[in-house]
Amino acid sequence: MSTRIVVCLDGTNPQYITQSDTPTLDAIAAKGFSTLGRAVVPTVTNVNNTSIITASFPEVHGITSNYFLDLSTGEEKYMESSEYLLTETIFERIGRRGKKSALLTAKDKLKTLIYRGAQIAESAEKPSRWLVDRIGAPPEFYTIETNHWLFRAAREILVAKSPDFLYLTTTDYATHTYPPEDERSQWNFNQLDRLLGEILNTSSDIEIVVTADHGMNAKSYALDLTRILNEAGVPGTAIPIIKDRHVVHHKNLGGSAYIYLKDPSAMDDAMALLREERGIEMIMPSPEAARLYRLHPDRIGHLFVLADIDTVFGTISAPREEVSIRSHGSLHEQEIPICGFGKGPMAHQPQSNSEVAAWLDT
Ligand SMILES: [Zn+2]
Repeated sequence: MSTRIVVCLDGTNPQYITQSDTPTLDAIAAKGFSTLGRAVVPTVTNVNNTSIITASFPEVHGITSNYFLDLSTGEEKYMESSEYLLTETIFERIGRRGKKSALLTAKDKLKTLIYRGAQIAESAEKPSRWLVDRIGAPPEFYTIETNHWLFRAAREILVAKSPDFLYLTTTDYATHTYPPEDERSQWNFNQLDRLLGEILNTSSDIEIVVTADHGMNAKSYALDLTRILNEAGVPGTAIPIIKDRHVVHHKNLGGSAYIYLKDPSAMDDAMALLREERGIEMIMPSPEAARLYRLHPDRIGHLFVLADIDTVFGTISAPREEVSIRSHGSLHEQEIPICGFGKGPMAHQPQSNSEVAAWLDT
């Protein structure tokens, strides 16, 4: 079996690639395919990485958010442990066939969510000694160069450990910080492309897919849905789906939210109230959201709210505020690049994140 590699470029809409010089990605597309694919909704990191690595939707794998409210205990929790994962990973499937797999993430909490079954699991945040001895310590976390270190680490693991399958997933600090036309972004993608070329040079027998977990857009307006509801006399809590322990790049403001109402019979009042708000594109009861976006019905509260392209939800100091950030989470960050080549039939090219690993696993 050839070495199979999936690379997930965090927070990368197709414009980041088309506006940068990326000869390796061009060569991959020429040898195989390149298409505009779809991310899973909500367009956040944990949901999409889990969809890639389990080849399923949140209705099956259970990861509906970066953060959630556990109704059985009333506690708000980060979805960062594999205890929340309800299905097997591709690492486990490959392992059963006696094959070896490796996982490389930027953030350690993503590693702990999806590592099950991977014989090798490393993160830039907490790398093991042998990796640091070989390629040096990772740079400070909130830098463009973190992902460059991760690509070098992937190359080192391929050379030293010869896994049959490797999943490399980056962090979106750079795209939260710079738009595609910024020269620092163009430099970043050019460097990543060069390092990807070095990964491909480790063997003549590689199959690869490069994709993203979600896109990224500039946001100018923020709503605090919890404040808006509570001030109107409809008690409830809006859980920001993007919420992350690492808050530097998006301030926990994202384009979708799950609303947990204190009194579920107030659902119509809450929907009527929020429909009046500028910035809200869609609002629906959770059973409808579960059907439409294939979400796990027990983990999405009572209402699912999606923002328009300019708006984000989160905890701010007023009900409504002007902001200037780059973020994701809405339907407008669903478009992602997918390119790759392999030995399998090209007729079944992956069109969405949940199909990427399945395509390589055929
Ligand atoms: Zn992400």
